[in-house]
Amino acid sequence: MRSPDSPAFSHNPGFKAPRPPFPKQHQDSPGLESELDPAPRYMAEDYKAADKLAGKVALITGGDSGIGRAVAVLYAREGAKIAINYLKEEQSDAEQTKRDIEALGGQCELIPGDLTSKGFCSLLVEKTVKAYGRLDILVSNAAHQARKDSLDDLTDEEMERTFSTNIFAYIRLCRAALHHMKRGAAIVVTSSETGILGSGKLPDYSATKGAINAFTKTLAQSLIERGIRVNAVAPGPVWTPLNPSDAGLDPQGVSKFGQDNPMGRPAQPEELAPAYVFLASNADSSYITGTVIQVMGGETSGG
Ligand code: NAD
Ligand code: MG
Repeated sequence: MRSPDSPAFSHNPGFKAPRPPFPKQHQDSPGLESELDPAPRYMAEDYKAADKLAGKVALITGGDSGIGRAVAVLYAREGAKIAINYLKEEQSDAEQTKRDIEALGGQCELIPGDLTSKGFCSLLVEKTVKAYGRLDILVSNAAHQARKDSLDDLTDEEMERTFSTNIFAYIRLCRAALHHMKRGAAIVVTSSETGILGSGKLPDYSATKGAINAFTKTLAQSLIERGIRVNAVAPGPVWTPLNPSDAGLDPQGVSKFGQDNPMGRPAQPEELAPAYVFLASNADSSYITGTVIQVMGGETSGG
């Protein structure tokens, strides 16, 4: 790992981002952003908005916290109306996202509910359309993650939860959203570096992220003629509630989170969100569909 004092970091705007070791901490899943120490950075103060999403409506799952919250705030700054989905235990985080968006002059509908419940994905899309009259951008971002020491520790129940949350909900949300999306609409999904590189303790989670990448490419191909683009963002480690509430990661592991990344730290959510604007904005990415954009802090992959 390079030293943070090396010239390679001197022009890196994220240089002052918090670095490990972090305070030892653990939460039950789903974790709350309000209990994370240090608090994640998601307002992207150095970012200059340019009305790139003016008049659009965006539905963001997991928009209460972490990457989803940073995306919700940046989309609102770019002029979109926002609906966020989350679990009922996360109501306080969701209300914070709504307050932040309203303070910026935007609108944010709160639609709690469990994406693994039968019929909920289509209900969520219908509620968004009912609230705003249209749907232009779907950000499928919610996920379940829990590390395991061995494949023997992966129960059928856990495997079903991971697949149901991470990939089945993505497919179901796309299926429902496409009934409302018109030419110029965009779907953006959160993948992970684990879907590209694998991750020893995350067999089920990594498999869902690989499936997300393959489904993204497939759906993108099938929607070219409709003028709807589909892309993924693959983050490296990001400072959000996901890992501090991973049942298989102890407080010591949380304190070292992101240390092994080439930049020696996790990303802050605000370092991910601009990629989601880019992929949703036709001014930026009209010729890009079926890609997996890597935002991985210098972690590289073949190909
Ligand atoms: P996060 O905990 O803030 O967000 C995950 C969200 O998923 C939660 O807020 C929750 O609302 C939602 N969720 C989980 N189960 C749900 C269910 N059954 N129904 C409805 N919502 C549910 O953490 P995050 O890191 O911002 O995660 C966002 C995305 O980023 C996920 O897809 C995750 O896999 C991905 N990701 C995160 C990291 C990282 O290091 N944090 C790295 C790579 C990819
Ligand atoms: Mg949350």
